[in-house]
Amino acid sequence: MTLISGPQVAEKVLAECQRDIAALKARGVTPGLAVVLVGDDPASRAYVRSKDKKCRDLGLHSVKLELPATTTQQELMDVVAKLNADPAIHGILVQSPPPKHIDEAAIVRAIDPAKDVDGFHPVNVAKLALEDPTGFVPCTPLGCQRLLMDAGIETKGAHAVVIGRSMIVGKPMAMLLMAKGPGGDATVTVAHSRTRDLGAITREADIIIAAIGRPHFLKAEHVKEGAVVIDVGINRVEDPGSEKGYKLVGDVAFDEVAPKCRAITPVPGGVGPMTIAMLMANTVKACQQSLP
Ligand code: NDP
Repeated sequence: MTLISGPQVAEKVLAECQRDIAALKARGVTPGLAVVLVGDDPASRAYVRSKDKKCRDLGLHSVKLELPATTTQQELMDVVAKLNADPAIHGILVQSPPPKHIDEAAIVRAIDPAKDVDGFHPVNVAKLALEDPTGFVPCTPLGCQRLLMDAGIETKGAHAVVIGRSMIVGKPMAMLLMAKGPGGDATVTVAHSRTRDLGAITREADIIIAAIGRPHFLKAEHVKEGAVVIDVGINRVEDPGSEKGYKLVGDVAFDEVAPKCRAITPVPGGVGPMTIAMLMANTVKACQQSLP
């Protein structure tokens, strides 16, 4: 069984970014990422802080805008419009979820698709479906694909089962795996909460991507011998023994599933670090594509 290490592959992606950033700087351009946070959700604040730090470590121009929870839709639209027009900013990300009074879909649509490094704008969703390489693909599924490719897992002709159909993970993951070319060409089944007899489907899978949001959901009985399992889940479960009182676990019951697998990602230490690495890669790509 191979343990696929997210931090190791993320390091590789970041090293590639560093090389590309140096080349861009030699041309007089520094890629810039703006991360906008509305409100004071502690988890979102921590994400934004780590994105900002990663940018700075890499030598990217980083702008972190922390707006109060009382920010109106119009005020947020104005911030986005300003960032769209700012030539020093190549990537814009509005941290999800915003406060309830904000229409998130309208904000996503207001971001210039050429700066939409999250890949959530309808233009980028369409580009993914069209297999247009100028589009931006959401960072988490892009990271999962990279993990598979780096581990030498052949997706061509494989039966891949994606559990989850969200716009952030499941749907773009399925589109990536079914696209033509390296890291794609798989036969893809997408399962969700209305799927009948999930186990019968996952037991047929060569590759399983679990993006469900339920701790330890995928059990040994769901997986065939020799399968490859990518665990996207990040779930907080109580852990009275730990200092924080909780720990993070995936959607896969790792201890019982791992022995059956050809390869598997752990949680933590799997997909998580890839998401931020691919965000950096998307920002570099946005900068490169902005040049004449
Ligand atoms: P969503 O809640 O948006 O989607 C979950 C999906 O799982 C839905 O499609 C849902 O089906 C499906 N589902 C729920 N219960 C079942 C079930 N019993 N059987 C089959 N399918 C089920 O979550 P996200 O896609 O945003 O995230 C999924 C997980 O990935 C979460 O744990 C999240 O924390 C994690 N995540 C991790 C990231 C990382 O960087 N590693 C980044 C993003 C997410 P239905 O559509 O029918 O409701």
